[in-house]
Amino acid sequence: MNREEPKVYIPEEAIRGRVRELGRRISKDYARVENLHLVGVLRGSFIFLADLSRALTIPISVDFLALASYEATAAPKAPVRLITDLRTDISGRDVLIIEDIVDTGRTLDFLMSLLASRGPASLKCCALLSKPACRKTAVRIDYLGFEIPDVWAVGYGLDDKERYRALPYIGIPGR
Ligand code: 5GP
Ligand code: MG
Repeated sequence: MNREEPKVYIPEEAIRGRVRELGRRISKDYARVENLHLVGVLRGSFIFLADLSRALTIPISVDFLALASYEATAAPKAPVRLITDLRTDISGRDVLIIEDIVDTGRTLDFLMSLLASRGPASLKCCALLSKPACRKTAVRIDYLGFEIPDVWAVGYGLDDKERYRALPYIGIPGR
């Protein structure tokens, strides 16, 4: 088993600074709403959501859902499947999806349609990472931490077969 630490790609301090900045921008943009409802996509977003939520200076509530991706070959028309749904009704609420990383865009596309169909007052997305070179479905990311190239990123919530989620930085594992 490879015990080497992943190579640092985005250091802890850079993430902290960017999360603070996103927190300021989001707090400003939503200054006039009564409450911002954060919807975290499990499991990869849990650390980002924990830090971002504490960088916000507006009233928030938090809920989670869990998704799984099918292999493209198994279900080409439904690459994403809902595993655990939200616990609360989002109709009439201001919803911000919190994602770890947008790769092909299929997950976010699925999620935006699903949540939009439930009648929120507003629906936007905040992602820590985006790999624009890998996009297969056009999606809008309203708030983005970092653009990265086509690499496999781990750490700060993201895993490689369940390893590395608790790393404080974004890294690239040696193969
Ligand atoms: P998409 O539907 O945009 O192709 O994929 C989104 C999901 O694939 C992400 O939420 C994440 O779970 C997974 N994913 C895509 N790229 C990476 C990566 O570089 N590292 C990790 N750990 N997960 C990734
Ligand atoms: Mg994800």
